[in-house]
Amino acid sequence: MLSSSGRLRNMRMDAVHGSTPLDPSGLPDPGRPRFCGRCANPMGEVNLADRPRPVCPSCGWTYYAKNAVGAAATVVRAGCLLLVQRAHAPYQGDWMLPAGFVEYGEDGADTVVRELAEECSLVVKVTGSPLIYFGRDDPRNPSYLLVYPAVLSEPSAMPVAGDDAMACGWFPPEEIPANIAFEGQRRAIADWRVRQTT
Ligand SMILES: [Zn+2]
Repeated sequence: MLSSSGRLRNMRMDAVHGSTPLDPSGLPDPGRPRFCGRCANPMGEVNLADRPRPVCPSCGWTYYAKNAVGAAATVVRAGCLLLVQRAHAPYQGDWMLPAGFVEYGEDGADTVVRELAEECSLVVKVTGSPLIYFGRDDPRNPSYLLVYPAVLSEPSAMPVAGDDAMACGWFPPEEIPANIAFEGQRRAIADWRVRQTT
């Protein structure tokens, strides 16, 4: 089972990467600015710390590609974990914790509250500090994922899928779907399952 789902995942990654140029590192190409973000002069390239870096020959502004940051929540009711099914690529149709990218200047805990409202029409409260996972299999960007524990503000509220989610559901540890999107999500959910049985 594991090897066949791994092959399937790799095939899907190949399909996605087919049209996405790769960085020399083998990760999705983060892009390189042709013009300086500060003074608009054409950028040059300099080897810094063994990597070619876009550098402005006029003002010295250097472009460093960034890992993305996402935030997700583990919301549990009656021992079941809330998951959403992705409505769009990448990994369309796969399941994951409700999650989204952290906006510039946004606290990840606020991202979680916003995403739960957008994807599941649920109001939640974050109850603790996040666990942090890193993944390289998002074809848009390598990403850190902050995974916060959260609780429903109204315990009997029903999730309603919206925005980027085509479905929401509650899953006991032994019925977590096999098709979980993203490396960080897979590891976060696997760790949650272990915590339920120890
Ligand atoms: Zn410049």
